[in-house]
Amino acid sequence: MDIQNLIDSIAHDVAPYLAQGRPADYIPALAQESPQQFAMAVATLDGGLYATGLADKRFSIQSISKAFMLAHTLQRHGEALWQRVGKEPSGNPFNSLVQLEYEHGIPRNPFINAGALVVTDIAISEFGDSSSALRSLLREESGEPAIDFDYVIAASEAEHGHRNAALGHFMKSCNNINGGVDQLLAHYFRACSIRMNVRELARAGLFLANHGASPVSGQQRLSRSQAKQINAIMLTCGTYDAAGEFAYRVGLPCKSGVGGGILAILPGKMSIAVWSPGLDARGNSLAGLEALDRFTTRSGESVF
Ligand code: GLU
Repeated sequence: MDIQNLIDSIAHDVAPYLAQGRPADYIPALAQESPQQFAMAVATLDGGLYATGLADKRFSIQSISKAFMLAHTLQRHGEALWQRVGKEPSGNPFNSLVQLEYEHGIPRNPFINAGALVVTDIAISEFGDSSSALRSLLREESGEPAIDFDYVIAASEAEHGHRNAALGHFMKSCNNINGGVDQLLAHYFRACSIRMNVRELARAGLFLANHGASPVSGQQRLSRSQAKQINAIMLTCGTYDAAGEFAYRVGLPCKSGVGGGILAILPGKMSIAVWSPGLDARGNSLAGLEALDRFTTRSGESVF
């Protein structure tokens, strides 16, 4: 497969879709991104790195951080994590409050906001400064020490983060948050604010493609079984309430973020990152989904 040729032609083909998406506006600092931007990168386990579009431009990874935070925390805390958060798709928007009340403060999965807050609470108990621990992991796995938080975005989200605060306080009332809610939110917003470009993100995903062993840092980040578990949850829960459509059209475990990034994993072969800030109605990058659909359809590669 000529990966460079394929992604260059995909970048050309998705251009008409760029105008159709809308950047997230509930975090004002994200609303300023022009939707006319696109980048895609593929990192392969045999050492290849291919990129097209604005591949050097860093963007806020937002909920893609949830996949890495889960991996880091599951590796450290182990199976006990699943006593506090489920593994099922929610079928509800990522920031929904309703389900949480009738399910007694146990979030459906680690990729909706409530679930990520629980994982972050566990991460604080394991690592102390959980957002810095995540930043270190991403620096090591991308090979790029300059990766950092975006404090402007984190502050913008904190100022408007009333729903996340509500989720945190509600779960605290259900005894599913151990630490302080203010500290929890600060770590969660900082983790979401991390900026990376598609090259860095694709490289950082390689340990998920390589059954937990990182070809970048040389570390065994997850057991083979845990890498399978993270990929399974990405496939079933990683793209908000559009996970069924992603499985149908893309056929890869994916994790998206409202900054317009999507990380996709082809176990045993490669990691793919795509970015375009215009989102569809369910919060996924509109051109990003189109690009990943074309990538797996034209290459014939997917998990199925
Ligand atoms: N920081 C965002 C929030 O909590 C993340 C949302 C996302 O990317 O899905 O609303």
